[in-house]
Amino acid sequence: MKRPSDAEARRAVPPVICYPNETLPFPDMALYAAARAGATKVSETLVPAREAACFRAEAGQFFRISSVEGPQVGDLNLWNAQDLSERFYSGKSRALHGTHLSAGERMWSSFPTLRPMATITEDTLGWYGIDGFGGSVHDVIGTRCDPYTGNLLSGAQYHHCCHSNLTRALADETGLSLGEAEGHVHDVLNVFMCTGFTRDTGQYFMKASPVRPGDYLEFFAEIDLLGALSACPGGDCSTEHSSDVAACHPLLVEVFAPSPGAVDGWQSPAPNGYDRSHGRGAP
Ligand SMILES: [Zn+2]
Repeated sequence: MKRPSDAEARRAVPPVICYPNETLPFPDMALYAAARAGATKVSETLVPAREAACFRAEAGQFFRISSVEGPQVGDLNLWNAQDLSERFYSGKSRALHGTHLSAGERMWSSFPTLRPMATITEDTLGWYGIDGFGGSVHDVIGTRCDPYTGNLLSGAQYHHCCHSNLTRALADETGLSLGEAEGHVHDVLNVFMCTGFTRDTGQYFMKASPVRPGDYLEFFAEIDLLGALSACPGGDCSTEHSSDVAACHPLLVEVFAPSPGAVDGWQSPAPNGYDRSHGRGAP
């Protein structure tokens, strides 16, 4: 292929941040920290290895996902507890914050609401940063392991990929059929997973998660949430997923309620303000 004479000059153009996020509504982390200090545990859910489980957190409560027993990656879905059509939007959260999320960043919901569903308030793996391979933790670049891709690549029929685990858990929680529930499962926040893109080929890579028992990721629920968490069959994702080969461990989800009055002054975010007319008058 012909290389233009100014190829190096074109490559040397500096990048521009697509979505400068200084104007995003800023979470009041001091208020959250004060509310968390007096909070008490109201529920806990142990997610079995290679399975998923649902949990609920009311607006204004906190939920914590913890590593227990051994290094384990979790695939997280979030829905508005009153309306499953409002769900976590991985791609937009990535565009707004970057490839991996940490404390102070948010899980945004789908169109047309596009609002914060949850804010990360604590991340014990925040020290990891970005390693020499370009890897980091808690990504919003992977989708979720699923049996369709597994079948495409190897012809397998494997039933404990995160996609199927989340589908069964949502069906059990809501009474929806498996087929209906599957349509609500969406791209995840890959909790504790360590991933990046290779510099030479741009391919999605994973490596052993740095998570250890006792580590956790904690969130403030901005709206009433129904969550589902899958303990990925990839375990710590150091080798492979979509099989029962990797060592897998449970994950713990705990929900905490602040003491009465502790989040006074805070309001659940309103749905997005775009008028939805798309240039054609009233929607
Ligand atoms: Zn998975």
